[in-house]
Amino acid sequence: MKQSIHILPEDIASKIAAGEVIQRPASVVKETLENSIDAGARNIVVTIKESGKALMQIADDGQGISPSDVTVAFERHATSKIQSYDDLENIRTLGFRGEALASIAAVAQVEIKSRVDDEEVGLSMKVEGAMKRDPEPCGMETGTMLTVKNLFYNTPARRNFLKTNATEFKHILETIQRAALAYPDIAFTFISDDDTVFSVEPSNLITRIRELFGEELSEGLMECNEETDYLTVYGFLAKPEYSRRTRNDQFLFLNRRYIVNRAINHAVYRAYEHLLIKGSYPFYVLFIDVDPSRIDVNIHPSKLEAKFDNERSVYGIVTSVVRKTLAQHDMMPSLTISDTVEGTPRTHTTPNREQSPLHMFRVNPKTGELIEETIRREEKRENFNLFQRDSFKIPQRRDPESHYEHEGEQKSHDSSAESGLIYQLHNKYILAQIRSGLMIIDQHVAHERILYERALKRFTTQNPASQQLLFPETVELGHAEVELVKEIHPLLHTLGFDLKIFSKNTIVIEGIPADVRPGYEHNILQKVLDEYRSTMDAQIDVRDNLAKSFACKTAIKSGDSLTDEEMRDLIDQLFGTEMPYVCPHGRPVVIKLSVEELDKKFGRT
Ligand code: ADP
Ligand code: MG
Repeated sequence: MKQSIHILPEDIASKIAAGEVIQRPASVVKETLENSIDAGARNIVVTIKESGKALMQIADDGQGISPSDVTVAFERHATSKIQSYDDLENIRTLGFRGEALASIAAVAQVEIKSRVDDEEVGLSMKVEGAMKRDPEPCGMETGTMLTVKNLFYNTPARRNFLKTNATEFKHILETIQRAALAYPDIAFTFISDDDTVFSVEPSNLITRIRELFGEELSEGLMECNEETDYLTVYGFLAKPEYSRRTRNDQFLFLNRRYIVNRAINHAVYRAYEHLLIKGSYPFYVLFIDVDPSRIDVNIHPSKLEAKFDNERSVYGIVTSVVRKTLAQHDMMPSLTISDTVEGTPRTHTTPNREQSPLHMFRVNPKTGELIEETIRREEKRENFNLFQRDSFKIPQRRDPESHYEHEGEQKSHDSSAESGLIYQLHNKYILAQIRSGLMIIDQHVAHERILYERALKRFTTQNPASQQLLFPETVELGHAEVELVKEIHPLLHTLGFDLKIFSKNTIVIEGIPADVRPGYEHNILQKVLDEYRSTMDAQIDVRDNLAKSFACKTAIKSGDSLTDEEMRDLIDQLFGTEMPYVCPHGRPVVIKLSVEELDKKFGRT
């Protein structure tokens, strides 16, 4: 049942971001579309003449306005959508300011026709320069139709400020497109100067995108969907090769409200970073849903901006969701060297293939060579098991003489000699030759990915692997840290920490996870706890956060020198993970440089 329309008391009205909402024809369309959607419309028709300068008419089949409310609807701060200050903190409708109808009527000649279900007829009322005429009955279906003529007729200076018809038309088109994307379940028809610009039936998001942006683009879309305690992110991202020259085709919706948020746009852009040609922008339609009490949309009259109570974590989540989606679709970052040869086109992604097979790399146990394989997605699981050695530890450094002495038949002489195949650069990156060219791996984040997935697996299988310390270590921790240890003790135990809480601030460590490398044992618990605490407010899942913190602190560091064998093991295990191309924090793990690209660079084409 619809609330009746009332005028907000002064103390609430004064809390609402003040400012003019009607700047151009598109603002009228935006505000009235919001009203139609809030009224539960299933079908909305927008008709304009001369790009809205002469006429705009928005008709819906929503619940309508009851006869007793038609007049008051045009008062300032008249709304049926919020009642109290609390409602303002918890907005679930697109409108809440109670300003649109009053503002439109102040600068145009308006006629409203509206009928609610339980009335036989509708009411029609004209409002001009805020002068309300007496309402008259009219025959119509349930719903509302607002007709707005001669915008800014009474403020010639502002009328002169309007841009060309082409520009104003574009603004209106974009406004309707945004609403149509946000609400694929509603039918929209847009008619301009008697031509139907588009007419779309209720459907789902992907169909809606196809109808609005064409078949070709819709084929290059990747779906994403991620849920955390704090928010849900879903929608479609276009593959890098479908990128646009402008930022216009980046659609971001917060609780189905189109918003502009530079930080989030940047979060998406960052995830694509290595995949895009300079000056191009990814197409995306991304929805973020979050509890309305955690955001503030009342910061600008146009409601185009919104503040999150935890913007940094939103940024992080969006970047990793996008990276994950790109990785799942085998959009492996390839190296982009700044163009020196003008007009040389570059290959930025591995070509996208049907059924998106995965690139896998593994080490041939006989020859020690790296093999690049293309594997269909379904086969990957098997491969995962094959190469996942749960108790694996990157071997301790040995003296070079005895290097292969325990390797038995695998004792090989070839791999280190054929140094062209694998190489450690500045104790930081692993360079490996693959069939298509060169692969560069960041050793730290690669190991992080491996340990992260292993930790998560331990949590699900409840299968701890611990190495006992020869001499149990007694550590003094702060009160808060001990409390934290108590709280996550079962998880720490599953990871492999064998702990006893001795007193209020003393803990005895008897064992540490088997994954901790020799030389990394010292203070490992404190380091993991510190990292955990510093990322704790990020609203991520406790297990996920602990797995990340553990992986981050236990992984080989940049600066550690690795043997050939260690590097090969690392690569082997990396490509046995679910998501080899992205580290748990969303940074790229692997970059590829193809021979083709090198050939181009050297003018060999
Ligand atoms: P707001 O949307 O912020 O409440 P508006 O000035 O846009 O303020 O509208 C005032 C009120 O008029 C709304 O709260 C709503 O009750 C009613 N209203 C406006 N447009 C429609 C519509 N298309 N269908 C039903 N009710 C409407
Ligand atoms: Mg409104």
